Amino acid sequence: MTQPMKPSPISATVDFDADGVQHGFLRLPYSRDDAAWGSVMIPVAVVKNGKGPTALLTGANHGDEYEGPIALFDLARTLRPEDVTGRVIIVPAMNQPAFAAGTRTSPIDRGNMNRSFPGRPDGTVTEKIADYFQRVLLPMADVVLDFHSGGKTLDFLPFCAAHILPDKAQEARAFDLVRAFGAPYSVKMLEIDAVGMYDTAAEEMGKIFVTTELGGGGTASAHTARIAVQGCRNLLIAAGIVKGKVEMQATQWLDMPDGDCFTFSEDGGMIRFLADLGERVEKGQIVATITPTGRTGLDPVELKARRAGLFTARHFPGLVKPGDCVAVIADETAG
Ligand code: CA
Repeated sequence: MTQPMKPSPISATVDFDADGVQHGFLRLPYSRDDAAWGSVMIPVAVVKNGKGPTALLTGANHGDEYEGPIALFDLARTLRPEDVTGRVIIVPAMNQPAFAAGTRTSPIDRGNMNRSFPGRPDGTVTEKIADYFQRVLLPMADVVLDFHSGGKTLDFLPFCAAHILPDKAQEARAFDLVRAFGAPYSVKMLEIDAVGMYDTAAEEMGKIFVTTELGGGGTASAHTARIAVQGCRNLLIAAGIVKGKVEMQATQWLDMPDGDCFTFSEDGGMIRFLADLGERVEKGQIVATITPTGRTGLDPVELKARRAGLFTARHFPGLVKPGDCVAVIADETAG
């Protein structure tokens, strides 16, 4: 006989069923050297007005990605209940310990939030947060928006995305919201390694799930922050949860059909890019060279595009290790 699942150790200081604006925390007890009875405090805001659909909005699933937290702290401060029909649940820093440390994964347990689902109520700190989303927050939601960017090690053309799904009605609703978000680029993603992802957890519950990659390098630009703020508002309006008019933007649809989109380095060294994000490249074109740096006089290794397309994502730091993804080339499509 299987044991019934333990309740989550996380308690919310907000009432998800109360109308109005509430700012509070998801409090997770975390005993440690500097606080025997300490807690991880994950900020949460709830803006509710009567009956209607629920949007669940998250940033900092990875702690070194900033467009999401910028847009969501801003939204939590400015969204008024009279402009809402239904409910908006805002968690700007989903992996709060990682966000506070400015790192992709949690400094407590090295947990990668987007590989930790469905989580465990008696697991690591990261698994306990995942379990709370899996069993408490996701079931409340109709629409889920999870912000990502490249973090410290990747940089992306700014895009909003949803997944190709077996349920075509669910897929179509997600792509309608991607279109409304209005990022400069929009992507139809086929997930190859979906195990443990928040995306998959939400989609398997039948939720409309939308995500982004809005830049990277461990910071946000004025341009990508504006895309995040406006896109979030557009998505909530298109979902019928926030009053207003969607500010439609032109978007270029991109497709990443297969493994040839990705170029990996087999060598370590200093990278020099010979093309920049947003440029069209041809199959076989040298997109970067890797220079061995231990001594002078050695030839650089040439890294070639394995397909033609638009240069969509790149390795960010100046040094590369064997196995690092250095370039992603996507197809421009009609959408
Ligand atoms: Ca990410």
